[in-house]
Amino acid sequence: MNAIRTTCPYCGVGCGISATPGANRSVDIAGDLEHPANAGRLCSKGTHLAETVGLEGRLLYPEIQGARSDWDSALTLVADRFSRTIAKHGPDSVALYVSGQLLTEDYYVANKLMKGFIGSANIDTNSRLCMASAVAAHNRAFGEDIVPCSYDDLAAADLILLVGSNTAWCHPVIWQQIEAARAARGSKLVVIDPRRTETAAAADLHLAIRPDGDVALFNALLKAVHRRGAIDEDYLAAHVDLPDDFWANLTGSPQEAGVSSEDFETLAEWVCAIPRLVTLFSQGANQSVQGTDKGNAIINLHLATGRIGAPGAGPFSITGQPNAMGGREVGGLASMLAAHMGFSEEEKRTAQDFWQSPTIAPAPGRKAVDMFRDIYDGKIKALWVMATNPAVSMPDAKFVREALARCDFVAVSDVMHHTDTGAYADVKLPALAWAEKDGMVTNSERVVSRQRALFAPPGEAKPDWWIINEVAAHMGFGKAFAASSAADIFREYCAQTGYRNDGQRLLDISSWSEISDADYAAWRPRQWGGRSPFAEGRYSTANGRAQMIATEPKAVCHDDEFPLRLNSGRYRDQWHTMTRTGLSPTLSQHLREPLVAIHPDDAARFDIADGALTRVTAAHAAAVFRALHDPGQRPGELFVPMHWTDQHGNIGRANMLADQRVDPISGQPGFKNGDVRIAPLQTDWKAFLVTREKPELEDAVYWTAGAVGSGLLYELAGQGAVNVEALLPSAGQRMEAFDSARGTRRIAVMDDTGRLAAALFLTRSGELPSREWIIGQLQPDERPDNLALLAGRAPGQITDSGPTVCVCFNVGAKTLLRGIAEQSLADVDAVGKALSAGTNCGSCRPAIAALLEQVEQREGEIAIAAE
Ligand code: SF4
Repeated sequence: MNAIRTTCPYCGVGCGISATPGANRSVDIAGDLEHPANAGRLCSKGTHLAETVGLEGRLLYPEIQGARSDWDSALTLVADRFSRTIAKHGPDSVALYVSGQLLTEDYYVANKLMKGFIGSANIDTNSRLCMASAVAAHNRAFGEDIVPCSYDDLAAADLILLVGSNTAWCHPVIWQQIEAARAARGSKLVVIDPRRTETAAAADLHLAIRPDGDVALFNALLKAVHRRGAIDEDYLAAHVDLPDDFWANLTGSPQEAGVSSEDFETLAEWVCAIPRLVTLFSQGANQSVQGTDKGNAIINLHLATGRIGAPGAGPFSITGQPNAMGGREVGGLASMLAAHMGFSEEEKRTAQDFWQSPTIAPAPGRKAVDMFRDIYDGKIKALWVMATNPAVSMPDAKFVREALARCDFVAVSDVMHHTDTGAYADVKLPALAWAEKDGMVTNSERVVSRQRALFAPPGEAKPDWWIINEVAAHMGFGKAFAASSAADIFREYCAQTGYRNDGQRLLDISSWSEISDADYAAWRPRQWGGRSPFAEGRYSTANGRAQMIATEPKAVCHDDEFPLRLNSGRYRDQWHTMTRTGLSPTLSQHLREPLVAIHPDDAARFDIADGALTRVTAAHAAAVFRALHDPGQRPGELFVPMHWTDQHGNIGRANMLADQRVDPISGQPGFKNGDVRIAPLQTDWKAFLVTREKPELEDAVYWTAGAVGSGLLYELAGQGAVNVEALLPSAGQRMEAFDSARGTRRIAVMDDTGRLAAALFLTRSGELPSREWIIGQLQPDERPDNLALLAGRAPGQITDSGPTVCVCFNVGAKTLLRGIAEQSLADVDAVGKALSAGTNCGSCRPAIAALLEQVEQREGEIAIAAE
């Protein structure tokens, strides 16, 4: 088949993909060489998409109360429950909770139904958890939610500040562009992040700021720039309004931000001297109770220095999700109405007239955290969740689960049959997945691209826009929701952006409302607003001038009973709640368990051994992680991943620990600065199991599951006796080795063809062997040697490759360290040539650089000792 041009479904970089489908839902994935976002590059997640498009675990038929149903019954039920609830309790008694995974067309009809036909703005999106603070900061400063930069600005910048962004892991293709810019023009890179991530390790300057120290730092920086006479007075006079006494009231110091005077001076010197400055900020800035002020403190620096609207200059918020921007454009946040309009009387009239709707939401709706509080309190009685998993991803997730359990009626549209949120659904509606969907997405730089179907819809799954339109029709709104294709909806949305706009809003793509179906089918990526929407210094405020906003550093209150600050975020090769990336054996190799990173001094203080199971406790919940001693953590702070769910483990839930505190303006939760304590978790035994069948896990105090080549790998730990029989298949030929001194048991079960069905390695006081060789023995063509199986390694094998660094070529850290030392490999390219690592998607290149540094440091120490 011919290659189909589509877009990656993961992060907000929005990389173009060239996908060639084959038989049985196989597909070859390559980067789209002509897509402006990535010019052919892909990271590990995009590269291994083919492993995630199978039908295992999919929801393929409508279900009512857990039983298979049909579309008409399911749609009638959803419409009926929504209509009856609205009739009895009013429009605000129902809500939609949607997602940056929806396509623009899906988002548009969901927003139109809620705000124009139900008459409430109770539609919010998981983008609230991701970049709502940046949206609020843009609105305050520019009068409209406009990202002022493009990726080309990274290539043109001489100084790049990364704020709260582990770009090398979370936006890897942007990272590759930054690395290319540094190589090409010697751009300096400053990383402002409490953690020494792989991104920070590669920077010219790393400011390990204290959590929520950003406002203090950027205000201090602005004061220093002002003091040194580097303010652009002409730009301020022509294009910017300042609050009265702005400079006199500007407070903040490097000490408050937790950075040294010396590092601060270097930063201030560079900022004053280098005009081409881009500040890229992400979740570390946004996910804060001061997220909006952080965004405005960053924007203030750019406005005051006139570093905006020109090549290589501007504040650049990057989004976490593939279509968070599309959702913002159509108005999918509870705080916006539609097409960048707010809730003024004129804007409400404009939206209502355009939609020809019977009503219009009178005011902003409930933002995500407040929405689930209202559900808990019984004010919202019917909820429809689309393409997201709030039972895992919301802060205080236990509370959210209780809210879902209390809700009178919950509908869930999803692609997966079993999700933590789906467990609370009265109705499940099967939606199309990435490889089957057609529509538009907008990336972080406002480029609108097509997502295209690679396969026919499986089972009875339907596009989200179709499901929403059908529910709307069943509620009596059929005339306004009669679109028969995504292209029809896109044209309508584009027309809305221009309706009575008269240049008030920069988002005006009404010229695209005339495109034909053929144009839509052949669509190539197009950017709205141009490379620099503010190039002429005209902003979307009433007077056309940007607004500098007074921001003030505020101390976050902490509870003394919980002496540690908890930060959370992403792993390099996983995505959100792992419903897709968790299916990929290749991606699962990188980090197989949820780890709590802790500084070695804290580990000594709290008696936490490296690799030990550890309980992290907040006021309202606890979770268990495996400890990782990490000198890159600031003392007093912990970091945990956000990905693990009930489907992948029983207890490593980061967002159970996050509390409900939010930014007062944006409503975005402060995920990065929670209050916790830590203690070792005592268990009597530990084990791992590789198996082709899911086991019974009732004995395990701790378990995690991950996909491996032809089965699953479980890490287990527990107390008291172990019911081995529950873990292993009942049929098959057993072999067992037993060491009573250490309480070690090794059991292998072979099927009747001589293939390995399961292998369990369990010990009470000994060590467990490396997992990698045993995992390989599950492959269909392997007929493993019995003795080797029980030994846990290949005959004669004595070397361990260590944790996987390069997932594309399966190269471990120990192999890399040995290769670097023995072959005197000097840089990442030399490592690639010798060991292949880092030569495909490039996501592991920062990790290889860190290993090179490690070897260099070790050799330096040896040389000094020899002297
Ligand atoms: Fe997908 Fe990676 Fe590109 Fe993000 S950087 S869009 S995850 S390929």
